[in-house]
Amino acid sequence: MSDLLDRAAHAGANRYLDTRGNITDAVTFTEAVIDGLASGGGLFVPEQIPQLTLDEIIGLADVPYPVRAATIYKAFNIDLPDDQINALMHASYGRNFDTPEICPIHHLDEGISMLELWHGPTSAFKDMALQCLPNFFGASAAKLKGEGKLDKDFCILVATSGDTGKAALEGFKGVDGVCVGVLYPDGGVSDIQRKQMITTTGNNVHVWAMRGNFDDCQTMVKRIFADDAFADQLAQEGYALSSANSINWGRLLPQIVYYVSGYACMVRSGALQAGDELDVCVPTGNFGNILAAWYAKQMGTPLGTLMCASNENRVLTDFINTGTYDISSRAFVLTPSPSMDILVSSNLERQLFELTGRNGNAISQWMADLNDKRAFQVDRDTFARIRATFLSDSITNAECLRTIKEVFEAQDYLMDPHTAVAYATAQNLKGENPVLVASTAHWAKFGGNVYRALHDMEPGEALPQDIAALTGCQLNQRIADETGKHDIPAGLADLDAMEARFTEVLDADEPRTESAVADFIRTQKS
Ligand SMILES: *Cc1c(COP(=O)(O)O)cnc(C)c1O
Repeated sequence: MSDLLDRAAHAGANRYLDTRGNITDAVTFTEAVIDGLASGGGLFVPEQIPQLTLDEIIGLADVPYPVRAATIYKAFNIDLPDDQINALMHASYGRNFDTPEICPIHHLDEGISMLELWHGPTSAFKDMALQCLPNFFGASAAKLKGEGKLDKDFCILVATSGDTGKAALEGFKGVDGVCVGVLYPDGGVSDIQRKQMITTTGNNVHVWAMRGNFDDCQTMVKRIFADDAFADQLAQEGYALSSANSINWGRLLPQIVYYVSGYACMVRSGALQAGDELDVCVPTGNFGNILAAWYAKQMGTPLGTLMCASNENRVLTDFINTGTYDISSRAFVLTPSPSMDILVSSNLERQLFELTGRNGNAISQWMADLNDKRAFQVDRDTFARIRATFLSDSITNAECLRTIKEVFEAQDYLMDPHTAVAYATAQNLKGENPVLVASTAHWAKFGGNVYRALHDMEPGEALPQDIAALTGCQLNQRIADETGKHDIPAGLADLDAMEARFTEVLDADEPRTESAVADFIRTQKS
């Protein structure tokens, strides 16, 4: 691995193109992280995808996780010094996770293994990226300030349906030059998710409930981002808004790491022969997590089929099976796996850019079709390339809950509903190769549906009165007692005892929300 680490100074750092061919000058990693979205609406993609040899990949199993992550970042030749990358990775993947393995693998029957991506502070897989991106965001902003290319601090504004908000709060808390504000729908998140957010410690964080649903929160954030007068007002305070959402390349790169690392660990544990193919199955929403697996495969990791698991919002399954992405008459369905309840899968754009041989014109046309006609169809060659790598299946709400119970009873392993969708998909699609399933949340984040599953209830059925009266923590304790699964992470188990710091409820009123954001930013400067 040493030649990989001995790269030249980053004078020739990797640069980033955009998926719609609109930008004329490719940008560096730090610029792509700070900008998030390319001008013209495209997404940033690295010019060079580095190649690792099989020995380099397997060798990653011999070094700690932060060193693996640093190795991948250096291979991508990002424009930060090696020793800074090392330090940032040790800060990203250390004691903030509940195991030094960071994302351990749990082997189940029939050649299916679970890559547990939920050992971070918020018990869901978004920590894998959001414990890392904020450190690189802070370092990128500092670098660009030093070069005279940036003169502002940032307020990260996030609308959340539950998981992302808490992961962003935990990730950005304490990062210099950045503060983070989260809007969640009042009454629209679970007791656990609400308490996770409103008990967040730290001085550079704020949380508001908003009257309305998740869509209202998201619309509010978009309107605030589009308000030039408000941007000017914040600029006078020395601040700019940013979103750090899942289309930021700085959230994708950390996800590539665990697929390369996962392959290495499968070989080290003897579950796989070096060089043999490993299939991967990913519960998919915005397509970020499965796209990271595709990049890991491109880098030389011997991954075989990439299985895209959908819930009843099966737009991606239909796309992979037909080549047509169509939301023109598709209803949005509520499922037990809410983080996959998505109709427009934003990172698919990057995948299509790569599969068309980086044809920005084709992508621009398809994205225009999606906007105008609510549908687009890819050409035959692109469809053939999709079929050569991807398989997909969708799992009904009832199948999801049944899977949780079956796997618990047969194999004494308790899964959250998102993971169950992927597990059921892997069972349906599995061929000769072993399958690594991305396990994306701890079961205790979704106790209500785990309870329904274990008690043979219907999806969406009202919980019995005595159960419905419990707090999220009490319900989890009840499930732990029934199942013997007492591994509830401390961050979830202690929530009832923690101080609620943020109790304000805002109307979905733009001036009032903007002044709440501005007030919060002013507290940052004193
Ligand atoms: C966000 C999320 C997903 C979906 O991941 P994408 O990268 O959006 O495809 C799956 N499971 C859980 C628990 C999540 O929070």
